[in-house]
Amino acid sequence: MIVRVDKILSELGFGSRQEIKKYVKAGKIRINDNIVKKPEEKLNSEKDKLYFEGKEVEVEEFETFILYKPAGYVCATKDNVHKTVMELIDSKRKNVVPVGRLDLDTEGILILTNDGSLNHRLVSPSSHVDKTYYAVFEGKLNENAVEMTKNGLDIGEGEVSKTAKLEIISDNEILLTIHEGKFHQVKRMVKALGGEVTYLKRVAFGGLRLDDLKLNKGESRKITEIEMEMLK
Ligand code: URA
Repeated sequence: MIVRVDKILSELGFGSRQEIKKYVKAGKIRINDNIVKKPEEKLNSEKDKLYFEGKEVEVEEFETFILYKPAGYVCATKDNVHKTVMELIDSKRKNVVPVGRLDLDTEGILILTNDGSLNHRLVSPSSHVDKTYYAVFEGKLNENAVEMTKNGLDIGEGEVSKTAKLEIISDNEILLTIHEGKFHQVKRMVKALGGEVTYLKRVAFGGLRLDDLKLNKGESRKITEIEMEMLK
């Protein structure tokens, strides 16, 4: 991949584009044996070496995918029993991994990336990236379910869900928006409210809505720059 020196260094956390400009001026950056003269200079990440203050910089090429995960695939890189979501993306890189997990029987938006800091940001509850799930359930929800969900639910095993938004669609359908990802979280929250999830689909992740992605079930593609902004 051909990348600009200032872009790649700022993406890797060496500073803002303005700061990189100053480092270039100060002669701190080198491509192979040549001092970089302009921040917009480019390198080929496959064959050039980039140095910052004499130390080689790992120029990792980030790849991020959006997948409409179907049921029947596990969110793992390897599995002895089931097919994995890795079979549904077109990447030659070994370090692309699913961001968080959807259960084997859950469908919907799944992000996969080899960008560790993006991955961390998307799953960390403190980043408040909303994930919305559409769920079909059996049983009857507590009549104060919306309020209870807002206040946090005891979901068992000593865990309490953080504040979340519940929208009732019908007697057996809801939308639930959470910004954390505990194991089986939605199923456990619905259980705490008196229901039993029978179908689950993640319909939004950050600002991305499944309906707008133009993906059929099982299809994936690289995320666009605009979508990347909407994701966070
Ligand atoms: N909550 C669940 O219970 N399952 C999922 O797959 C995702 C969220």
